[in-house]
Amino acid sequence: MSSKKTVTKGKCPLCGAPTQAEFRPFCSRGCRDRDLLNWLGDAYRLPGKNLQADDADFD
Ligand SMILES: [Zn+2]
Repeated sequence: MSSKKTVTKGKCPLCGAPTQAEFRPFCSRGCRDRDLLNWLGDAYRLPGKNLQADDADFD
């Protein structure tokens, strides 16, 4: 492979703008953060059954 320029292939999965190598696979920090937040949001949205399962039953 010859690296002439940092021509990034692909598009941002969020907004479809050309991918920036720095923020692969996104186009910008904004999109990267947004995706990360979505990801974390989904994780947090899961039922927190496991969170208190261990020491909650302390009587
Ligand atoms: Zn984007």
